[in-house]
Amino acid sequence: ATDTGRDFIRDIIQADLASGRHTTVITRFPPEPNGYLHIGHAKSICLNFGVAAEFGGRCHLRFDDTNPVKEEQEYIDSIERDVRWLGFDWGPHLYYASGYFEQLYDWAEHLIRAGKAYVDDQSQEEIRATRGTLTEPGTNSPFRDRSVDENLDLFRRMRAGEFPNGARVLRAKIDMASGNINLRDPVLYRILHAHHPRTGNAWCIYPSYDFAHGQSDAIEGITHSICTLEFEDHRPLYDWFIDNLPVPSRPRQYEFARLNLTYTVLSKRVLTTLVRDKLVSGWDDPRMPTIAGLRRRGVPAEALREFAKRIGVAKANSVVDMGMFEFSVREVLNRTAERRMAVLRPLKVVIENYPEGQSETLEAVNHPDDPAAGTRSLTFGREIYVERDDFMENPTSKFYRLAVGREVRLRWAYFITCREVVKNAAGEVVELRCTYDPQTRGGNAPDGRKVKATIHWVSAADSVPAEVRVYNHLFKNAAPNAADFANEINPQSLEVLTGCRLEPALADVPVGQAVQFERQGYFCPDPDQRPGALVFNRTIGLRDTWAK
Ligand code: ATP
Ligand code: MG
Ligand code: MG
Repeated sequence: ATDTGRDFIRDIIQADLASGRHTTVITRFPPEPNGYLHIGHAKSICLNFGVAAEFGGRCHLRFDDTNPVKEEQEYIDSIERDVRWLGFDWGPHLYYASGYFEQLYDWAEHLIRAGKAYVDDQSQEEIRATRGTLTEPGTNSPFRDRSVDENLDLFRRMRAGEFPNGARVLRAKIDMASGNINLRDPVLYRILHAHHPRTGNAWCIYPSYDFAHGQSDAIEGITHSICTLEFEDHRPLYDWFIDNLPVPSRPRQYEFARLNLTYTVLSKRVLTTLVRDKLVSGWDDPRMPTIAGLRRRGVPAEALREFAKRIGVAKANSVVDMGMFEFSVREVLNRTAERRMAVLRPLKVVIENYPEGQSETLEAVNHPDDPAAGTRSLTFGREIYVERDDFMENPTSKFYRLAVGREVRLRWAYFITCREVVKNAAGEVVELRCTYDPQTRGGNAPDGRKVKATIHWVSAADSVPAEVRVYNHLFKNAAPNAADFANEINPQSLEVLTGCRLEPALADVPVGQAVQFERQGYFCPDPDQRPGALVFNRTIGLRDTWAK
């Protein structure tokens, strides 16, 4: 990865175009619809769609739907939604591995006829036990030398539904002593009497990932089949099928490092368990590293694309610091999010010298660096709320905000001075009595006197109530123990604040669109909100506070 966006994948493509090996670039993003996409998939999407666009080619969306037991239409729909939201478009090139089942079946018979595949009656356990190890070769199946006719007959009867699940498999006949375990007679088809979301009950045998993937690439004319490093050892098998079948094109597989992130688990299996065991509210829980969760949290698609660019594409696995992702989110939101004021833990302030029953309108700038974002009006009056943390009864030496006798600036408004506090029976401060200087309208004193602090505020009469959900890392540890992640959940990963007060303009922000609450961070309305019952999610704080 470099600043110019070059990486080894782009170098390979560039060279293939320069040498004439390819005249166009066709990539694919091939999710299995067995869960929602996560930020790791976003890396792969940005890479596959990104290089296709850069080189004037195209990228297919292909559902790798070869395992009906785990796959659902809900996942197919969510994947399409998420890829689109990320900003990519597959045009008419939406495909399903299941769309190739008939062709794949024919190719399986082709291998049988060529003496390169056989039906094995061993159980799954027997097959696993005879596969050998890294240091020991495997042993041949007693069914390995069946005749072509017997294999064809049995395979057709497998397809016809004559045998129960697990009774037989079709295996490639390659080499049980190969140094690469993937080449030790891999399984091509297994019997599975299951309803498939697209093919229904048409099939009761399903191809393996390895038998489906490369051939699907070849059918679609994929030039560069980009996948993660776990598949490096599968490449010889990928090539073996391409070499031994009459496929219409010759794709090549390239592997890059998958994304790993601190404080995060990027495995659909683990994420599925979190959802199933209700450790989160769903796939789109804003604490989830899913694209749906990040979107609900207020992370803009642009931040995910920026992050993918920043981390680049490498050949060696590594773990990326969550801070890198958060940096991208802040960078985009600082540039794009409008500023508003919101008081999360309100403390009432009465401005004693402000006339009762009166109010006035002040102008506030929506974005300090973007005049085009314009301004909005704020109502100022005798009663306002400030943040409880912006007052200290006995201020410490570095505390410059409100205390009795202290003057501060109210953002976009006036200087106020705290005169006294009002306490309840329990001795808690429940109200501040202040005065304002009418000469300081807009935030400056004509006599040039300075204040050390500017604090945000909202009008008591005009502000609207809201619930604010503050999120922290879902996992306690930077490297969560995936074997025991129920105990890895950060008990402080969700803090719900009620009785927050927002400036009225915040009632009109569309769900999912982040705004900056001045001095506090970026927040966006949650789909749970209802008219009169606003709910905001904290997307991210203004600064990295994870150092604690
Ligand atoms: P999981 O193992 O979590 O189920 P997967 O890799 O099986 O994930 P797929 O649906 O098969 O999920 O993935 C679709 C594509 O996304 C594949 O090409 C895969 O390599 C890529 N991908 C998945 N996880 C990551 C990741 N963490 N970083 C980069 N690419 C990823
Ligand atoms: Mg998978
Ligand atoms: Mg996979």
